[in-house]
Amino acid sequence: MAISETPANAAVADSGEAAAKLSIEGVSKRFRMRKGRDIVAIEEASFSVEENEICILLGPSGCGKSTLLRMIAGLEMPTTGALRLDGAEISRPDRERGMVFQAYTSFDWLSVQGNVEYGMRINGVPREERRARAKKYIDLVHLDGFEDAYPSQLSGGMKQRVAIARTLANDPALLLMDEPFGALDAETRWHMQELLVSIAETANKTTVMVTHDIEEAIFLGDKIIFMSSHPGRVQRVITPEFKKGRRYKSKEAVLDLEGYSALEKEIMALMREQGGTDHNQ
Ligand code: ADP
Ligand code: MG
Repeated sequence: MAISETPANAAVADSGEAAAKLSIEGVSKRFRMRKGRDIVAIEEASFSVEENEICILLGPSGCGKSTLLRMIAGLEMPTTGALRLDGAEISRPDRERGMVFQAYTSFDWLSVQGNVEYGMRINGVPREERRARAKKYIDLVHLDGFEDAYPSQLSGGMKQRVAIARTLANDPALLLMDEPFGALDAETRWHMQELLVSIAETANKTTVMVTHDIEEAIFLGDKIIFMSSHPGRVQRVITPEFKKGRRYKSKEAVLDLEGYSALEKEIMALMREQGGTDHNQ
């Protein structure tokens, strides 16, 4: 069966085996409201992400996906539980965890080259190395030839490729993305999804990505964490077994595989149980 129930103590159960790259251990997040009741955004979330894995956080709007990703980034602290990267507790933002947001976040006054080099310059990477690393990642996201262009001269997809190149150039241990393709049109979106597969293969990055798009989750995910809402819980940990541990460069290839539509329907049913599809609020 493609979908299995998550044991509540998954992280504990894992502890005897090879250590996970990232582990989320009994994490809850409560937001203190000035008046009235607190908001429990995440309750007792536990799962792990292995080295080089693409892990997708999927679930309806408001189920706590962004909150969980922000805790992995160290931008928010959990109320209870712990998040560990390579065994070390995450307690603050760090450049070993690079984040790409849905909104275009490039600096308008810097060229593509300047944007990709920015973080390295701040971190004191010598000029020659900066140049070489920037070239590597600009090539990887197919922006060679656009080094001197400014963000205002680029399409939405190209701007997101700048953001991905800029993040990867800092050589993070974890690539974190919050609905990075959410603002793109459908065609650009699947090109970007395919590009992400080749990036994951080439750059060997452990990736955690938030999406509310089921097709995107199944195409990209080596593992899908399906979250339920109010409060946000890990409802299922889904391994798309029909992909047999492989990644595919083209989206059609995955859509054509036996087992794809069964999994899509199962996840759609989970979404429906949660009171409708996400409206990407
Ligand atoms: P998702 O990304 O899955 O749509 P979020 O993580 O943005 O969900 O939000 C989860 C819940 O936590 C929502 O009910 C949201 O209103 C609440 N929330 C998120 N951030 C804050 C905050 N800074 N203060 C108060 N409540 C918040
Ligand atoms: Mg969100």
